[in-house]
Amino acid sequence: MNKRVAILGSTGSIGIQALDVVRANPHQFEVEVLTARSNADLLIQQAIEYKPKAVVIDDETQFPYVSQALANFPIDVMSGKDALTEIVQMPSIDIVLTAIVGYAGLLPTIKAIESGKDIALANKETLVVAGELIMQKARQHDVQIIPVDSEHSAIFQCLLGEENNRIEKIYLTASGGPFRGKDKKFLSVVTKHEALKHPNWEMGNKITIDSASMMNKGLEVIEARWLFGLEPDKIDVIVHPQSIVHSIVQFEDGSMKAQMGLPDMKLPIQFALAYPQRIKSNFDRFDFFHYPCLTFEQVDREVFRNLELAYMAMRRGGNSPCILNAANEIVVDAFLKDKVSFTEMSDIIEQVLEESTYTANPSLEDYGFSNEEARRLAQRYLPKKGVRQNPRVG
Ligand code: NAD
Ligand code: MG
Repeated sequence: MNKRVAILGSTGSIGIQALDVVRANPHQFEVEVLTARSNADLLIQQAIEYKPKAVVIDDETQFPYVSQALANFPIDVMSGKDALTEIVQMPSIDIVLTAIVGYAGLLPTIKAIESGKDIALANKETLVVAGELIMQKARQHDVQIIPVDSEHSAIFQCLLGEENNRIEKIYLTASGGPFRGKDKKFLSVVTKHEALKHPNWEMGNKITIDSASMMNKGLEVIEARWLFGLEPDKIDVIVHPQSIVHSIVQFEDGSMKAQMGLPDMKLPIQFALAYPQRIKSNFDRFDFFHYPCLTFEQVDREVFRNLELAYMAMRRGGNSPCILNAANEIVVDAFLKDKVSFTEMSDIIEQVLEESTYTANPSLEDYGFSNEEARRLAQRYLPKKGVRQNPRVG
């Protein structure tokens, strides 16, 4: 029987690629639910092609437009504050792909787990904010959380069949982004256009900026801590500019397993949706002679301070990663609006981490409070005048 999939954030980079996977495998997958924040036209087009049972348009002003466009189809159209948390409970859903960006992914993911749905998890912020709670709930409700993030998919795949063997260390690989090898002075004047040019991956704006600032790797370290139940000192990061080795597990006997492939998110998306099966695909295959040399470098943690800040938040534990995430969401949004410079982003995150209220054992409500408080503080530290973005000369 086909797996019935709900795609939260179907109009984004991961959502669109997930629908490509569904289109290529009509005998494996069926779309039950599609959701978008505000891109009504694309949502309508997707709904007409994939015929889900329901769609959610987050932006309520677009609700009449979407309803009217889909009036002749047997598709429920929903909007409003509780639409996402309600829709994920639909009995016919087998698996929920969380491809929303940011903190907004948390509550729908929790509701999906509580109603027994497996999760294909792209929204890493969910695990950064509340990883312990999420993994606890997943065990309690006997649901699988299968990572979509390429590094975590790699580790998940390396661990198959190794359930009784202890991990000594994992190495998350990082491409290094567009500013690999640059110094602090260079970073202080980079523009959003430069930061949005990722060398290997086409992704949504938020994660592209996170990749340039290395916050993405910081968030991924925290994501890995919870997904694989590892203490912080067992997680390391290594720069690998070609993005072919997606991550590495080192076992206690010293043996290392890596998962490799071309940088194409469709692979980890398909793996997560089809798990535990592997489906034949026609994705491009790796050619050794196009990549005669795979290289590895150390991360410069003084230049890319966000990685250090993420380790610090992870070691402090409690609500610290939630604070880190909230402050980061605010500064990335501000950077995209020319309201803060690239390097000021880390300064503000550090300040917010110092000044937010610390909670050692946060409940879900505490996370909500903490997220709001950290956002308010981060807003307050944004420079009043904004930043002039001067294109670099030469
Ligand atoms: P994106 O910005 O391209 O798409 C986000 C999607 O979520 C859109 O459909 C948008 O309408 C929806 N959305 C955004 N904010 C929302 C909100 N507040 N409420 C409801 N819906 C909302 O983002 P993306 O690059 O596809 O990334 C999605 C998630 O996957 C992120 O957490 C990202 O870190 C993770 N991820 C992405 C990639 C990638 O290659 N793009 C790789 C690994 C992990
Ligand atoms: Mg990743």
